[in-house]
Amino acid sequence: MKSILFIFACICCSVYSQNPKTPNAPAKDLSCQKTDAEWKAQLDDNAYYVLREAGTERPFSGLYNNHYEQGLYKCAGCDAPLYVSDHKYDSGSGWPAFDRAVEGAVSYRKDNKLGYARIELICSSCGGHLGHMFNDGPRQTTGQRHCINSIALSFVSDDE
Ligand code: FE
Repeated sequence: MKSILFIFACICCSVYSQNPKTPNAPAKDLSCQKTDAEWKAQLDDNAYYVLREAGTERPFSGLYNNHYEQGLYKCAGCDAPLYVSDHKYDSGSGWPAFDRAVEGAVSYRKDNKLGYARIELICSSCGGHLGHMFNDGPRQTTGQRHCINSIALSFVSDDE
């Protein structure tokens, strides 16, 4: 009986953390968390503003908005792999857009800061703010648009 309950709990945890329809799912593993002073020392002012203060870079200003090289996008705070270039597309919004994240790499949190509900995307490893998720992504794939600040990402080319 105990083992059945354990398996059930595992399945529930797994679904809860992966399913974007459960935006309250907490970040899974914040093992890369640092003190505020440590983040300030590590990140430049703009990256700190986005990653640690949930700021937003100006549209069409980011390094990766029109960037379609093959490779991996990692968290600019902790280096965790977050997105792959195969899932990047041009949303026209002015920010990099992906139709899905690397499985388990990104967590979802409700955000009502603008007076209406949005789904905030945060790095599952360090809790850094990445951007927001909207449901106007490509219909032929996931329908999701992960709208991500370039400055929250660091790109590693497949050629490297
Ligand atoms: Fe991170």
